[in-house]
Amino acid sequence: ETKKRGRDGYQIYTDNLTEEAKERVSISTGLHNAIDKSELDVFYQPQYNLLTGKLVGAEALVRWRHPEKGLLLPAEFIDVAEETGIISELDDWVFGRVSADVESWLEQGLSLESLRISVNISGRKFFSAELIDRLDRFNEEKPEIVELLTLEVHEQDVMKNAIYARELIQDLRTKGYKVAIDDIGTGRSSLSFLQGLPLDYMKLDRTVVHNVSSGENDFAFVKAFLSLAHELNVEVIAEGIEEEQQANKLREAGCHVMQGFMYSHPLPSGGWLEILKSSRLL
Ligand code: C2E
Ligand code: MG
Ligand code: MG
Ligand code: MG
Repeated sequence: ETKKRGRDGYQIYTDNLTEEAKERVSISTGLHNAIDKSELDVFYQPQYNLLTGKLVGAEALVRWRHPEKGLLLPAEFIDVAEETGIISELDDWVFGRVSADVESWLEQGLSLESLRISVNISGRKFFSAELIDRLDRFNEEKPEIVELLTLEVHEQDVMKNAIYARELIQDLRTKGYKVAIDDIGTGRSSLSFLQGLPLDYMKLDRTVVHNVSSGENDFAFVKAFLSLAHELNVEVIAEGIEEEQQANKLREAGCHVMQGFMYSHPLPSGGWLEILKSSRLL
């Protein structure tokens, strides 16, 4: 009796596992092919400085134009890409695509001066020796493009190996490459970690932004964080702004650079190009 139940239990478990494993394998091989078949795309989400009313940059966000499933968001494939290591290939592809886009905007005579384009980098890529090599090689060819790029690394990835991350960020900065910490509020970085780090900016996570108008604790955190950032002389960007009230609270705390659906959704490169061309004013 016991044995039978045990067997049944085991059976159910492997069945589930197989389904899940199958799905992962399919996403992972699909992604691999997607990169070759250029099914991937990059969208750009504008960022604005509310004090000046100016466009200050955009974040590049990967999309997968799946032949059967339609336009897929990273939530549907990024985790698998990270687990299987394909993320490294994906990050390379995105970096190449963004660089090519920037080059074409420059060729079209657009002034990107004082704008920054942010590219997300997985922890895997960030901690790999390839990253600096690739940047160095690219920087020799096209310094005018590299100059406009900032690498966003997630706080949680950084905190997995904080000491090494610190060194890496310092090395990158010494070479003139810019790094930002993404999704602050999710990875418990200590104030002493942030102290003295040569960051381009720090980005407050969407969850923090969402709670800022409802929870007093979050507002207190944001205020303390902003005053620290101010002392460290590091810019802060808030992501995921959906409502006026959130923007107001953040401004009250001293944060003035915003990214969120309230201003613009991530746009295909054509839509972003229109914004670039038309006006820098909000
Ligand atoms: P992230 O780097 O924190 O990017 C911000 C995410 O918040 C984007 O989701 C963006 O569309 C979304 N967002 C912006 N404003 C709002 C808002 O007002 N409301 C809501 N609900 N969401 C908003 P997306 O594009 O789905 O990307 C999700 C995550 O996937 C990114 O989070 C990043 O961690 C990862 N990712 C995206 N592109 C890449 C990439 O090229 N490489 C790597 N390694 N990761 C990427
Ligand atoms: Mg990001
Ligand atoms: Mg983020
Ligand atoms: Mg986020």
